[in-house]
Amino acid sequence: MTEDPFLRWNLTPVINASGTMTGIGASRVAPEVRASVAGILGEFVGIDELQARASSVIARATGAAAGCITTCAAAAMSQTVAACLTGTDIAKIEALPRVAGERRVLLSLGHMVNYGAPVDQAIRIAGAEVVPVGTAAACETWHLRAALEQGAVAAMYVVSHHTVRANELPLDVFVATCREFGVPVIVDMASEYDLRGPVALGAAAAIYSGHKFLQGITSGVVAGTSDLVRATYLQHMGIGRTMKAGKESVLGAMAALELWEARDHAAARATEETRVDSLMQDLADIPGLALARHADWTGNPITRVRIAVDPGAAGFNAWELAGRLGSRSPRIAVRDDLIERQELYLDPCNLTNSEAKTVAAAIRAEAARFRDRGDGCRIGWSDAKAAREAAAQAWRGDSHET
Ligand SMILES: *Cc1c(COP(=O)(O)O)cnc(C)c1O
Repeated sequence: MTEDPFLRWNLTPVINASGTMTGIGASRVAPEVRASVAGILGEFVGIDELQARASSVIARATGAAAGCITTCAAAAMSQTVAACLTGTDIAKIEALPRVAGERRVLLSLGHMVNYGAPVDQAIRIAGAEVVPVGTAAACETWHLRAALEQGAVAAMYVVSHHTVRANELPLDVFVATCREFGVPVIVDMASEYDLRGPVALGAAAAIYSGHKFLQGITSGVVAGTSDLVRATYLQHMGIGRTMKAGKESVLGAMAALELWEARDHAAARATEETRVDSLMQDLADIPGLALARHADWTGNPITRVRIAVDPGAAGFNAWELAGRLGSRSPRIAVRDDLIERQELYLDPCNLTNSEAKTVAAAIRAEAARFRDRGDGCRIGWSDAKAAREAAAQAWRGDSHET
């Protein structure tokens, strides 16, 4: 019997209706992945050899020539950029983040977003200079060409719900234009299910999170050309050392990729759709809440429940409801990135069927409580935003509780 960490360390259990969020432990690691990792934890293994095996698994899963595993997708972004700055020159690898010569990395301004940390910082850590391309709400080929004409060691493209998507250059156009100038494109696909698309389009590297939809342990997957992957792996002698992927990360990501290949995706989708149906049914007819099935923003095969709150009819704001759900025990985490529009989303991927029932019952109970007590609509968005900012800094390691 393994001991229960929630009892042992006085932790608040979390029901995850938000998707894959780093702040609550990303995803439920698949049992097959846990079993694989357990097999290596007590052993020694040559990491070069293990990463070479990982390369074969990644190549098969993505169609790329090669691959390697990093400690997370953000580390993969820094290390692939580093690879474009140094190649396989170990002196250059050891010198980073000092770079002699060209260090421009192009990034559409609409992709300069924050996934929990800024995209541009992951690039700058390597020693590169980030060159924003286009304007906040539009990137055209002439913007990209003008930037490429000035020279660049790489260009980064981000596929994510976080980015501006209207009026951005489509990935195929972006890759083709950069290739005309011989500039390698690194695609951040951290949360995207399409393992083969960017490589097929000619991207030099595509990056995935091992701990998001893949349900691995914390890790990043780099799939790319042989040269770029080799130079990426060699960063372990330089900046990669501060973001080291150990044997458990590498093996965990390999197991997760194999599981992904073997998975019955249609059946998994059908199960999630059933969960969405049950949420829709269980949430029906709550005053002031409009429900809709919502397709994923970037085309991943995920349907979520969108709850649009009409504060006048509901008696509370969306952020007040999310706040109440988040202070229950178990804590219920909902997707809140569009909450200032009075919308919250329920993601079925990391919910069990019984947790989905608990979430719906909790929403119904909190809505009734607001109505009975008339204590909703007290916190405006400006105050809620200020509270979120304060919460972002609230962590203290010196308030000891065990
Ligand atoms: C989650 C995410 C990352 C970071 O992934 P980690 O593996 O957690 O480092 C980077 N980019 C995007 C678009 C993401 O969604």
